[in-house]
Amino acid sequence: MSTFRIAIVGAGPAGYFAAQALQNSATEDRDFAIDMFERLPTPWGLVRSGVAPDHPKIKTVAKVFEKIATAGNFRLFGNVELGTDITAEQLQSHYDAVVISTGSALGRKLGIPGEGLFGSLSAADFVPWYNAHPDFADLEVPLDCDTAVIIGAGNVAMDVARMLALEPSELDSTDTADHAIAALRKSSVRQVYLCARRGPEHAAFTSPELRELPKLEHTNVLINKAQVTDAQVRLGEGAEKDVRSNLEAMSLIAGLEETHHERTMHLEFFLAPQEILGNGRVEEMVFGINTLVNGEIVPTGETRSIKCGLVISAIGYQAESIDGVPYKSGKIANVDGRIEGTNMYTVGWAKRGPSGVIGTNKSDASDVMKLLVGDLATQPKQESDLAQSLVGHRVVTQEGWEKINAAEVAAGELLNKPRRKESKADELLKMAGL
Ligand code: NAP
Repeated sequence: MSTFRIAIVGAGPAGYFAAQALQNSATEDRDFAIDMFERLPTPWGLVRSGVAPDHPKIKTVAKVFEKIATAGNFRLFGNVELGTDITAEQLQSHYDAVVISTGSALGRKLGIPGEGLFGSLSAADFVPWYNAHPDFADLEVPLDCDTAVIIGAGNVAMDVARMLALEPSELDSTDTADHAIAALRKSSVRQVYLCARRGPEHAAFTSPELRELPKLEHTNVLINKAQVTDAQVRLGEGAEKDVRSNLEAMSLIAGLEETHHERTMHLEFFLAPQEILGNGRVEEMVFGINTLVNGEIVPTGETRSIKCGLVISAIGYQAESIDGVPYKSGKIANVDGRIEGTNMYTVGWAKRGPSGVIGTNKSDASDVMKLLVGDLATQPKQESDLAQSLVGHRVVTQEGWEKINAAEVAAGELLNKPRRKESKADELLKMAGL
């Protein structure tokens, strides 16, 4: 039996699915010893720090991750950062193959004047803030204004808009960070504008997300019926299934009986971000109004302005670059997941960019692990265990993580929540017994 040692860097869905694909490709003659490195004290990536707290069902995939982690021949090295605590060179020499699954953590920039003003944030900061990510616990989110503008028409923009427009007590039974629940409870935000630069038929939302909007018990949801009907007429029978379903969901919302809740979410289309105005902080969002001419989006030359105190852009992400790992155009440079000229591979958003749902990473990782396994030499390397060079470092092992997990779940039970997340890295390390 030959045991190949594989390092996986990044304990998010793509990393776990890569581990699972390797575990599934073990044979009588060949198996894999998997070491998963994660820079945070906690694993699960976006399942912990991205998925909206009011979507607990999506997080049940974590049970699959824990099964993979406890299947044997798997070690977790939490609180270990590639580029700081270990190098890509070390990994390449100690392991038969290295898998980079570090995701896309940086928010794309709008590149418009005023983007740097206080009160202008990226969803890449706001989302981990409400999800108790240690790096964002101290983020200043000005919620002392009546109106917030969210830019983008994808599911992240939708999550952000919902979090701001929900009645805060609806978050009490969720695993939203304590500091975010406290801040949202004090929030003055009552109008949330979700602004797309193109038409309803171009929106990147998926229809289940749209279809849950009418179920919001304490929020009015407004959408311009004429814009949706126009899109339906434009597309006629030729619309793709997903687009048709989205337009049906939007039409349903637009046709809802008027409600008179304190909070309102507005879905707006054809608004291209132009400038953020304000004296020291965000005061106004200026859009150029777009229109469709022969199927092309073109500016009308007119503008629309929304007075607001908070602007959150949710227009996509890019991967962070890592020392010693080739990087190109916001992703880890790769060909079908292979990082050429190395024994490194990449999966998930780091490989293909920020697209798809959690499950997309399963088939993606499985395809790349097939290549990895096919590329392996006939005999494993005989290097020493890299763990020896981490002696003295506060490493969160699987056992340590299970202690954190159990403590968070137990603290949550008392409050009728799935868990009460700790957002301070040092506290998390203490909970792990370190
Ligand atoms: P996304 O789906 O790619 O949406 C990005 C949005 O930003 C698009 O509407 C895009 O509009 C807009 N945009 C890009 N550049 C812009 C600019 N300069 N000005 C104005 N708008 C701009 O990205 P995402 O929302 O970050 O989501 C990432 C992935 O995670 C997606 O696959 C999503 O489905 C998934 N996700 C899923 C869930 C869920 O399942 N519940 C939740 C969250 C995220 P254009 O189309 O005009 O470029």
